[in-house]
Amino acid sequence: MPRPTPTPVALSPQAAWIDALAAPVLLVVRERLRYVNAAAVSLLRANGAQELLGRSVQDFLHPLDAHRILARIQRAQSGEGGNPPTGMRVFDCRGGELTLVITSAPIDCDGEAGVLATCLDMTERAAMEQRLRRTDEDFRRIMDTMQDVFYRTDAQGITRYVCPAVKNVLGYSAEEIVGLPAAAFYPDPAERDALVAAIREHGFVRDFPGRMRRKDGVIIDISISTQALRDERGQYAGVEGIWRDITERKAMERELERLATRDHLTGLLGRRRILEMLDEELERRRDRRSQASLSVLLLDLDHFKQINDTFGHAGGDQVLRQFVSTVHESRRGDDQFGRLGGEEFLLVLQGADADGARQLAERIRLAVQDRPYYVHERTGVRLTVSIGCAHASIDDRRSSDLLERADRALYEAKRSGRNRVCP
Ligand code: GH3
Ligand code: MG
Ligand code: MG
Repeated sequence: MPRPTPTPVALSPQAAWIDALAAPVLLVVRERLRYVNAAAVSLLRANGAQELLGRSVQDFLHPLDAHRILARIQRAQSGEGGNPPTGMRVFDCRGGELTLVITSAPIDCDGEAGVLATCLDMTERAAMEQRLRRTDEDFRRIMDTMQDVFYRTDAQGITRYVCPAVKNVLGYSAEEIVGLPAAAFYPDPAERDALVAAIREHGFVRDFPGRMRRKDGVIIDISISTQALRDERGQYAGVEGIWRDITERKAMERELERLATRDHLTGLLGRRRILEMLDEELERRRDRRSQASLSVLLLDLDHFKQINDTFGHAGGDQVLRQFVSTVHESRRGDDQFGRLGGEEFLLVLQGADADGARQLAERIRLAVQDRPYYVHERTGVRLTVSIGCAHASIDDRRSSDLLERADRALYEAKRSGRNRVCP
C-alpha cells in the first residue's frame, strides 16, 4: 500500500487561521515543538508561544505515558500514517497534570517530516471519573465492613442490593437474596406490608420493629430504619435502608424484665409482681361477680435472725432457698408463690376456700419443720415457719385488704408461740 504523502505546510502567514481555532494545535518536528496555536498555549498554561517553541515534547510527557507518545510521534514522522485518538497524561508549564485525548497526522514541514497534533482536554472528566470511582470504592468498602444490613428494593419489593453482612445475620449470601422479594425472608409477609405502609405514609421509618427468618429457620428480631426511594417523576420506586439484628438486645430486655419481676435469690415472683397479680385477680373476680374461692397464705420464718447470727448472711440465704424448694414441693401447680421481702412470702391459692387453705398451710408447716437443712455442708439446722391465712370476700378491692387480714393472722401465729397456722 503506498504511503500517504504528508501535506506540505508553510507556517508563516497561513498560521493566522489556525491560531484562531478553538482546538489546541501543535506541530512537532524532530520531537520539538515547532508551532503551537493560541488554544495550545492556553491549554499548556504558557505565557506565550515563545515559552513553548523549540522545547522537547519530552518536557511535557507524563513518565508513564512518554514511551507511548514518542512511539506515536515516530510512527507519524516516518510517514506510517496518522494516529487515532488516544488518552494521554501530560504536564502543563506549571507542572499541572492534564488528561488529553490526542490525535495526530504526519505533515511535511518545509521539507522536514513533522507531526500535526490536536487534542481535547479531558482533565475535568477524568477527575470526575476518578472521584466517582473513589466514591464507588468507598461505598463498597463501607458496605463490605458494615455489620448492619444495608439494602435496597424496587417498587415491587424485590431486593436489588444487599450488603455482604447479610450472610452473618441471615445465613444467606447477598447473591441468594438479590432478585427475590424481601417479604420472602419475613416469617409472616404481612409484617413487611405494615413496614411498607408506614414508609409510604411517612416517607421513612426509624427503629421499626420486625422479624426475619434465618436460613437455619431461626426467627430473629430486627430493627429497621428505612426511607422511600422516588424516581425522577416523584413516583415511589422502592425503599433503601438499614436493618440490624437485635435478638441479643431483646433477650437482654426480657432478662431485665424477668429480673425486675423475679426475685434474684429464690427465682420467685418479686413483691411488685405477686401483688399486681393478686390485684388483677381480685378485679377479675369483682367484674365477673365470681363466687370462686381465693385464699392467700402469708409465711414468715421463725427466729430467722438467729440463723443469720449463727451461720452468717450467706448461710441464711442457703436456708432461705431450701425453705423455698420445700414450699414448692408442697404447693399445688397453679398456686402463685412470691417473695414479699426478707423472709416473708406470699402464696396465692386459686379456688381454695378457708379450710383448703388452712390444710395446705398445715402441710407446708410440717414439711418445713421436718426436713433437714444444710448450711456450709453442716446439718442440724432447725427451721419453722408461721403462717397467716386469709380468704377473699367479694368486698376485697385491693390486695392490701386481703393482706391485712393475713398479717393479723400471722401476728396471732407468732404471738401464740410460732410454728403455727392461724386462724
Ligand atoms: P420472727 O420469728 O419474729 O419472725 O423472728 P425473725 O428473727 O425472723 O424476725 P424478723 O422476721 O423480724 O426478721 C427477719 C430477719 O431476716 C432479719 C434479716 O436480717 C433477715 N433477712 C431478711 N432478708 C434476708 C435475706 O435476704 N437473707 C438473709 N440471710 N437474711 C435476711
Ligand atoms: Mg421472721
Ligand atoms: Mg419477717
